[in-house]
Amino acid sequence: MEAFTIENAYVRRDGRYILSGVSVRAEKGEHIAIIGPNGAGKSTLVDVIARRTYPLALDEYRSSILGEERWMILDLRKRMSLVSPSQDSFFQTTYTAREIVASGLHSSLGFDFHHVVSQEDWEKADIELRKVGMDRLGDRAMNTLSTGEKRRVLLARAAVTDPEILLLDEASSGLDFPSRADLRDTIASYTTGDRTLVMVTHELAEILPSIDRIILMKDGRIVMDGTKEGTLREDILSDLYGRKVMVACRNGIYTAFS
Ligand code: ADP
Ligand code: MG
Repeated sequence: MEAFTIENAYVRRDGRYILSGVSVRAEKGEHIAIIGPNGAGKSTLVDVIARRTYPLALDEYRSSILGEERWMILDLRKRMSLVSPSQDSFFQTTYTAREIVASGLHSSLGFDFHHVVSQEDWEKADIELRKVGMDRLGDRAMNTLSTGEKRRVLLARAAVTDPEILLLDEASSGLDFPSRADLRDTIASYTTGDRTLVMVTHELAEILPSIDRIILMKDGRIVMDGTKEGTLREDILSDLYGRKVMVACRNGIYTAFS
């Protein structure tokens, strides 16, 4: 069963292609990591999948999500969630953590006079806040939380709709070392059922054991798409990053250094 399909995505900014004919298809239940140097187009691809960015409307372009090409964007937001530091400023508000999570159920930023919020909505929000260890800070305004606390709230918001597709774009950026380990456990707890996970990361150590497909990007293109064993290799990563990279693997967790 298809989670999403993107065919021939071209995105141009400032007269330059930042995505050049990218095609990718994911099945339900697949866990995928996207890696590549800064500026490779990883975030752009994730935004295209999430329909935050629309590629050039060429005849060859096609995009389908959960078997449908056309979506009402607010419906799609409940089935596919994105966590990205590029949204941080958007959530820098006086709404409480609890409101930010509960309003994920309404695809809105906090609540307005026209929203009808049920007891069940608040209960779902509380369950997700508890899972990320933020239940005690539920009544705190978002703009008073630390980076790590905010990121956990945004993960809870992403999960509250029980989405079929979860997109995480450098979700651990700005977090301290123990918080990153927590985050990995949280993400692991989100990979249940046949949920599809796509994560962009710079830290190979964050690639969960359940992730078995790696997409390598460079210069707006997918340069490789394969298994961990086939892609997380010194020769391939050295070529990708343009400098000597060393790779180690222990208990299914990879680390790279250069
Ligand atoms: P990555 O996430 O792999 O680091 P991005 O997808 O964020 O890369 O960006 C790919 C390239 O596109 C970068 O060189 C970035 O500077 C450029 N880019 C992204 N958005 C814009 C924009 N709105 N205007 C001009 N250039 C952009
Ligand atoms: Mg990026």
